[in-house]
Amino acid sequence: MKKPLSIAVKRMLRRGMAALCAFACVFAVSACGADDADGRIRIGIKFDQPGLGFKKNGTYVGFDVDVAKYIARKLGYSEDQIVWKEAPSKQREAMLQNGDVDFIVATYSITDERKRVVSFAGPYFVAGQDLLVRKDEKGIDGPEDLNGKRLCSVTGSTSAVTVKEKFANEVQLMEQPGYAECATALFSGIVDAVTTDDIILAGLASASRGRLRVVGKPFTQEYYGVGIKKGNTKLARNINNAISEMIKDGSWKRAIADNTKGVDYTPDAKYNPPKPKEGEK
Ligand code: GLU
Repeated sequence: MKKPLSIAVKRMLRRGMAALCAFACVFAVSACGADDADGRIRIGIKFDQPGLGFKKNGTYVGFDVDVAKYIARKLGYSEDQIVWKEAPSKQREAMLQNGDVDFIVATYSITDERKRVVSFAGPYFVAGQDLLVRKDEKGIDGPEDLNGKRLCSVTGSTSAVTVKEKFANEVQLMEQPGYAECATALFSGIVDAVTTDDIILAGLASASRGRLRVVGKPFTQEYYGVGIKKGNTKLARNINNAISEMIKDGSWKRAIADNTKGVDYTPDAKYNPPKPKEGEK
């Protein structure tokens, strides 16, 4: 007659399973709960904005990248535990809602509209919407000169929304997936100006080697936040603490200096550095 599995063997198996479970659980909730089960953190950035979030020979550089790395380190992740994901303007909310990324640092303005579906930590920077024109442009000295002009901006950006709200009747707006495409349209004469945040335009002007210039009359304030899943107040608090430290220990200033070297751009000292206090409650 076949003997049933001995009690001792059964007990051993049960203990083994319990140990395995405990191990898996610890893994899944390690650090702040913002990571993959494999211990990596997924961060959304831009790949095509020089000076902010830029992919260069398989590495990632820019002010947003430096802010993201600093935050990741404070949350307990080394640089090789970061998985960088491209977060185009139009896709940011969906990426956070779907859990494709743990947080986003991508020139992402804090707005009430966006706060209906995602939350923010920060702000960590304040920019202003401005205009980029060809070097020899004579007719555009500020937003007051936009009547009858053709503008390019990016789908899903506050910049495109502002154009539609403020200049709907006077301008023709072309929308592109990224600002690099807008710069190309400006080079080729398809549009008369590109509009978005001054710090983004300054990077594009610098990359154009003198062929494009920023007008320099900002007409909005863009408070850059770190996008997180809606309601994650604990992560917001941790990120705000990291940003505060980055400002306090001089890393914020250094990151700005490093990433605007040779670029004609100085952050508006009236708003920068800002006080991070968003999303905690
Ligand atoms: N800061 C603006 C925004 O969040 C424009 C820059 C961008 O598209 O990333 O929409």
